Amino acid sequence: MGSPGVVLTLLCVSTAAIERQPIGSDEVFALTVSDWQSAAAPFVLQGTLTRMNDGLSVRMEGHWQAQASCDRCLRAVTVAIGGETTALTTEGALGETWLPVVDQEIDLTPLVEEIEILSWPTKVLCADDCRGLCPTCGQDLNQKRCLCAEVLPPGPFDQLRDLLGKDD
Ligand SMILES: [Zn+2]
Ligand SMILES: [Zn+2]
Repeated sequence: MGSPGVVLTLLCVSTAAIERQPIGSDEVFALTVSDWQSAAAPFVLQGTLTRMNDGLSVRMEGHWQAQASCDRCLRAVTVAIGGETTALTTEGALGETWLPVVDQEIDLTPLVEEIEILSWPTKVLCADDCRGLCPTCGQDLNQKRCLCAEVLPPGPFDQLRDLLGKDD
């Protein structure tokens, strides 16, 4: 795992064969992605390249489990990501994603990112009734309740924690 936003992989599909086919031809591709940063396990991208008058159109679909953390308690959870998207290899089409062909290859990374962003849940929770972390002491309230809500000041508990820590 690297830092967020750093892409560690190139997901390239070759255009060498489809570029020699007549206009209107399709070529199906499938690609196993083993090192996508957020993915919990390898997954498959499937799609179709279509030869157009001017360049290629790309349709691509992928589904995977992404590693995330609960918005309330930060516990690691996986979320189901997936969807379908399209792009063109010709620049300038309004509202379309543009994927350049470089050395007879298309890097699909922007499409995988697009699917991930569009299908990422607005709220990630380990459980609908997750109690979250105490804003004062950081205790995971799913595991046990803390005493912050009561009137006792935090001092004695800091000392108690220090005492307990001495056994280490
Ligand atoms: Zn949680
Ligand atoms: Zn607390």
